[in-house]
Formats: sequence, C-alpha cells, structure tokens
Amino acid sequence: MRGFLKRFWRHPFWQDVTSRTIAILLSSAILVLGAVFLALFTPFLSWLAEDVRVSRWSYYLLLLSLLACVLCLLHRIVKTRLRKPPPAFWEYKKDKFGPIVWRWGYRDTDDDIHDMAPFCPKCDTQLVLQDEWEDTLLVCGTHGIVHRTEESYGDIQTFVRHAIEKKIRSGEYPKD
Ligand SMILES: [Zn+2]
Repeated sequence: MRGFLKRFWRHPFWQDVTSRTIAILLSSAILVLGAVFLALFTPFLSWLAEDVRVSRWSYYLLLLSLLACVLCLLHRIVKTRLRKPPPAFWEYKKDKFGPIVWRWGYRDTDDDIHDMAPFCPKCDTQLVLQDEWEDTLLVCGTHGIVHRTEESYGDIQTFVRHAIEKKIRSGEYPKD
C-alpha cells in the first residue's frame, strides 16, 4: 500500500499540480504583501509631500548648519588629500650597532626617532635593562648578558640615536 501511494504521488501529474499550487500561493502572498505595503506607505508619502511652515530664522539656521557640515566635510577631504607622504627613511626602523640590534619608530610631528628598543642579535628577543654596581647591563632571557658598559642607558640611546641620524643624513641607511 505504501509503495503504491509513493508511486502515485511521484507521478509527473501530481508533481506538476504541487509545483503549480506552490507557485500560485507564493505569487498571491507577494501580491497581498505588496498591497498591504502600498496601503501603509501611500499616506506616508503624501504626508512627506506636504508643506511645512517654518520661521525664517529657523530656516536660515538649518541652511547655515547644512553649509557648516558641507564645509567641514570639504575641509577634511582637502586635508587628507594634501597630507604629504612620509619620507623614505621612515622605512628604516632597525639596525645593528655594536653587539645590539635596535628598533625604533618616527613621530609624525617632527620626524624624531622615538621608542628605541634593544634586541638580542641571536634570538631577536627584546633585551632587559639591568644595573650592576656602576655598570649598565643589557640582558637576554636566553643568552644572558649581551652588553655590559659603564655608560648610562640614556647615553647608549643617545649614541645610537646620533648614529641613526647620521646614517639618515648621509643616505647610507639600508633601503629595500
Ligand atoms: Zn638572545
């Protein structure tokens, strides 16, 4: 009996009837929805098209604020267009001075070198600054003391900064 029913429903005639019914139901549903939408939307459209009375001062205030918005937008666009690209040497942010690899960045406002940080030449881990008596130590977590000097860390940074600036001035910094 089940097999018979299956074969009966799988007959092309019934499949045709089902697909047609579904199509009719779907299109009428779309029509109904469209009619409901129009019925709700038409009053809104005519409401939108109606005139409103406003006083002159509020009208000009609106106009002025619109103008201010447009000017702000224009100013922003012009500012971003006119911003000059960063100088080529800004790509130069890493170098080895003595036993230490240094990394740094540049500041937008004055092209100054800042955020200088020392790294281990063997494993590229950032070094830790330690003091021992009069000495300054730069220590790697894996490889131990990388550099020991009597100079203060501030002095080391100044020496390296001057070395970087000299390379930038003379154009001998690595370019890639
Ligand atoms: Zn290391």
